[in-house]
Amino acid sequence: MLSAILSGWCTALKHSGIISLLHRINANKPRILMYHSIDEQPGILPAALNVTPKVFEEQLKYLTKNYNVVPLSAIVKALRSNKKLPPHSVALTFDDGLKNNLTIAAPLLKKYGCAGTFYIVGQCLEQKKPWIHRWYILNHCVEVKTILAALTEQVNQPIKSIRHGVQVLKYYCSCQQRENIIKSLENKFAISSRSVNQKYLTLKDIHKLKQDGHEIGYHTQSHSPLAGLTPEGSHKEIVSSKQKVEKQIGHLNHFAYPFGESRALGNSLQLLAKHYDSAVTTVEGLISLKDNPYQLRRLSVVSGTIPMFAATVEGARAIAVNAYQFITGAML
Ligand SMILES: [Zn+2]
Repeated sequence: MLSAILSGWCTALKHSGIISLLHRINANKPRILMYHSIDEQPGILPAALNVTPKVFEEQLKYLTKNYNVVPLSAIVKALRSNKKLPPHSVALTFDDGLKNNLTIAAPLLKKYGCAGTFYIVGQCLEQKKPWIHRWYILNHCVEVKTILAALTEQVNQPIKSIRHGVQVLKYYCSCQQRENIIKSLENKFAISSRSVNQKYLTLKDIHKLKQDGHEIGYHTQSHSPLAGLTPEGSHKEIVSSKQKVEKQIGHLNHFAYPFGESRALGNSLQLLAKHYDSAVTTVEGLISLKDNPYQLRRLSVVSGTIPMFAATVEGARAIAVNAYQFITGAML
């Protein structure tokens, strides 16, 4: 329903000439695009987190014709030093360190002469799935009604939807409780998350991406939401686990908040300021050169038409998404 409304809205904007007008007005506002998976099928991930290779290639073609694709670090440097960027600058970012970022996205990026920033999850380097992906696997393998009833029993409160389930797991459970609940659900439904094909970048893959001119950022050790972590937990998720990875692949200067959430973070903000140059959220919007480098907005890209992509890159889709969220209170 929402995607049909957005698609209609974006197509109308493109045909009315508003997108071209925004393109001129926004010339000096950099943008950071957010991708996750680039693959033929989303697999266990929600469809909104996957862009097909064909659509991704069309998007790169459109970007290289109409924009300047720059590294994320160039945007961060410009913010920090108040320097100018080339007009229509755009950086490409990829969250969660999925294997298809190397096998499918990277060759297309190379074909169009673009570089990206890949945010890796520490534990995924050992092919250990983060809890949120294990939750997706449970959703993928078990009937919705059944999994919601099972989670309701575990958390002692009625779980009304998959999204509601994620919210409860994120905000009302400690890391250990979350792990126990997911494990118990996997046992109950005899699902081994190991048998589900979801591959992540390895250290060797990351070296290859770096050799090809891409940047690597960090996305915590376990993809746990930062709000609610103890000071020791934050240090592990943001600093000590990253330092371990850095010994093998070099500096990781850029951070992506798990679930994009950058509020109520306790000591996390101080840790980020001390150990990173920037942090990206999932708040939708373009960037102004006065923005805080630890609260960088992004534009989430979906697998859609070029008018939809054009509206996304000019922030027009973000206006519709933000309005929808404001009206309905929904999280997309
Ligand atoms: Zn993520």
